Amino acid sequence: MRIGWHGEAAEQGQHRTWHAQAADDVLRGLGVDGACGLDDAQAAQRRLVSGSNVLPERPARAPLLRFLAQFNNVLIYLLLVASAVTFAMGDRIDAAVILAVVLINAAIGFIQEGNAERALRSIRALLPFTTTVLRQRQRRQLPAAELVPGDLVFLASGDKVPADMRLLAARGLRIDESTLTGESVAADKTPAAVEPGAGIGERACMAYSGSIVRHGTASGVVVATGPATEIGRIGAMLEHIEPLATPLQRKMAAFGRWISATAFVLGGAMFAFGTLVRGYSAFEMFAAAVSFAVASVPEGLPAVMTVTLAIGVRRMARRRAIVRRLPAVEALGAVTVICSDKTGTLTRNEMAVQQLIFADGVLDVGASGYAPYGAFTCCAKEVDPDSAGYLREIALACLLCNDAQLDRKGERWELSGDPTEGALLSLAMKAGIDGPRERAAYPRIDVIPFESEHGYMATLHAQPGNGLRIVLKGAPERVLPLCDTESHAGRPLPVAASAWHGRIADAAGKGMRLIAVATRAAPPGKAGLDFPDVEAGGFTLLGMLAMADAPRDEAVAAVASCLAAGIRVKMITGDHAVTARAIGEQLGFPRPVRTIGGEEMDAMDDDALANALATTDVFARASPQNKLRLVLALQRGGEVVAMTGDGVNDAPALKRADVGVAMGRKGTEAAKEAAQIVLADDNFATLAAAVEEGRVVYENIRKSIVFTLPTNGGEAGMLIVAILSGMTLPITPLQILWVNMITEVTLSLALAFERPEADVMRRPPRHPAEPLLTGFLVWRIVFVSLLMVGGCMTLYLWELRHGASLEQARTVVVNTLVVSHIAYLFNTRRTGASPFSREAFTGNRIAVLAALVSLACQAVLTYWEPVQSWFGSAGLALDAWGRIAAFGVLLWLAVEAEKSVRRRTGRH
Ligand code: ADP
Ligand code: MG
Repeated sequence: MRIGWHGEAAEQGQHRTWHAQAADDVLRGLGVDGACGLDDAQAAQRRLVSGSNVLPERPARAPLLRFLAQFNNVLIYLLLVASAVTFAMGDRIDAAVILAVVLINAAIGFIQEGNAERALRSIRALLPFTTTVLRQRQRRQLPAAELVPGDLVFLASGDKVPADMRLLAARGLRIDESTLTGESVAADKTPAAVEPGAGIGERACMAYSGSIVRHGTASGVVVATGPATEIGRIGAMLEHIEPLATPLQRKMAAFGRWISATAFVLGGAMFAFGTLVRGYSAFEMFAAAVSFAVASVPEGLPAVMTVTLAIGVRRMARRRAIVRRLPAVEALGAVTVICSDKTGTLTRNEMAVQQLIFADGVLDVGASGYAPYGAFTCCAKEVDPDSAGYLREIALACLLCNDAQLDRKGERWELSGDPTEGALLSLAMKAGIDGPRERAAYPRIDVIPFESEHGYMATLHAQPGNGLRIVLKGAPERVLPLCDTESHAGRPLPVAASAWHGRIADAAGKGMRLIAVATRAAPPGKAGLDFPDVEAGGFTLLGMLAMADAPRDEAVAAVASCLAAGIRVKMITGDHAVTARAIGEQLGFPRPVRTIGGEEMDAMDDDALANALATTDVFARASPQNKLRLVLALQRGGEVVAMTGDGVNDAPALKRADVGVAMGRKGTEAAKEAAQIVLADDNFATLAAAVEEGRVVYENIRKSIVFTLPTNGGEAGMLIVAILSGMTLPITPLQILWVNMITEVTLSLALAFERPEADVMRRPPRHPAEPLLTGFLVWRIVFVSLLMVGGCMTLYLWELRHGASLEQARTVVVNTLVVSHIAYLFNTRRTGASPFSREAFTGNRIAVLAALVSLACQAVLTYWEPVQSWFGSAGLALDAWGRIAAFGVLLWLAVEAEKSVRRRTGRH
């Protein structure tokens, strides 16, 4: 049967009135049965009309615009002016050469930036967005892109609404529509139709694509997808990683402006001094002043930084950490504290019930994964579940108060839902409970889903015969106070709380996660379950379940590596403090492992909390508010904090942290939107790997700076010395331009590809407020500049004295500069490795390649006639090359000696 669908009508704007129609009419209008959903054939058909449910891609910046943007830079303006002036002075070839160099430089920048931009765009595809849909009577997880009008979709707190929907049912639903309406307070939603004239913000029965469910659950029918949604109609585009500037980039930009200003002032002074005091011609001095500016300004650095960041993003993605905001890459490298969720991030989250604890005894349970086979034993004797009524009672409760589903896939049992509930479901099946039959016998009327905040889940059921029953399961400290009796093989006796506390401490001490199960009759006629019904108490405790959730092996290793790297790891969990401490010990946290509970934390003032933080690494029974407070307190103490989270209420803490980290698998869309990094595998080890990559990025950027500034200093210094002493310029302005804009840009890019130093994760974190221009850097600039100026000047004068022409002497200078740049590049590559290892030379192939390319360019400059005539260079004999190479080696040795002194005195 094919149900008609007025797709065309919807296209023509009828969708504006969905909110004014009754839910049934909407379903009819969309040709879908509210109990079955669409079938796959229908969905496929509709998708032909509606297209994929995605917003259009933001078009990449037009290549021409991107190319032109390369010229938007003071230095380039200056060079264009210089070219024009040179042209006006009648020197057409020089004018053309300046233009050509500017063009080549722009082309290099254009290609680099294009690669970086492409890398960032492709990352987004690694963040899948799935949604729960009813198709062919089955609930399924589908990629949101596959939704079509008429699909029935389920929403829960933390979800991002995947398309425009007319709500059919809602429970406590509040949706944050700020992306659409700008209203920051989440709006209450109910399925009742509203006035046709209601504005978007007033349509309480609609959920709009891109908004976030802050609270409650709902079902609805999709009325518009992709570009036809409200958000699509206002022209929103698919979001990509925005190339926001990182703090270091901003510092560099400010520093660059400062250097430019200084260079202009000094250039002006040089001009005045040169023309007035030394008698150079105005035109000659103008060229010299421009080339001085070119020499001083680190024009290549911004592009190198962008490329380094993009490479970092790609490396992180390869290690399963997906960067949503670029500045996080850098912040990761400075992290001093990682606050991590326990369950599923530090632990495996493959849970199985190992023990049933009753008021009058303990049953051990055999388990392997979620497979519903395993024996019950008591004191090493097997217990037949069929003859143990008390076992049946708790198993039934586990089945009823449960939303998980286990499916057999060959040998494996696959879980959909929460692992904790999967373990309970598996236990119920082991006890011989027939799921479908019992669910039919005790139909569920209502549910309060589990949330960490309240710490339990409760369901309301009709019982066979008559009457209603509430089943409650949750954290023992939450459930125990609500019980006034405990079940002794079915007989209720007053609850002996202190005995239970002993049992809890026992199991928790072994790192077991505990769940208490209780039940009570409910007054007949209740149609819904609310918190007061549960909090009223009067439950009978059936027993407790203890399950093991072992630390992940790789998390143990990652914790050790973080500790070695001077990064504190703090574990946050909703579990019992004793359980949490045991797991902390298994993870290798520094002993003694101290814990604080959420309530204890609430009772502390800021100072007490700050004191406690210094010695406490485990936070048990922690709420999302506790997480936020933790971030704030740590930051107040000067820490750089990475915080993980998955729930909708974690969003504030994630936003506030220096690096907010969301879980890719179990995390809600709300958490992912708030986070800067998403872990595709939810694994702590991935986060530690991302920190390592972040450190590498920062270090490589730093290396580019340590490379660029001293080499610039050398060139600028040479011009200053020449002008001050009134000698013939040892290098022409065009040659300066060549060295700066061609060779140096090629060489410094190699540092973006530098691999991690062996000790990246054995060093303390860098100081977050570390200035760009450290004492070390100033020293290096002076040291290397002096070496370069000294070397170049000496060779220049030596060549002239020994009969070389001016052209030859200048060519020697240009080559000396480039060779010393190459030598210094290999100095900066590695701070740790021994300078005489093979690694120090061939460890980075790109560096070797860049060196060879630069040398090839020098050969062209030196020997190819047309280029000789443009740049005023001349061929050199072999012995000149010998002297040049000797100086390169000398410089390299000098800097290595300096490095080794630094290493020995413990300063890097
Ligand atoms: P974590 O994030 O560390 O796993 P949770 O807040 O999820 O902590 O769980 C805290 C406690 O709540 C658990 O120790 C357990 O007692 C209880 N609990 C966990 N999941 C459920 C659930 N689905 N239903 C009922 N209780 C649960
Ligand atoms: Mg949990």
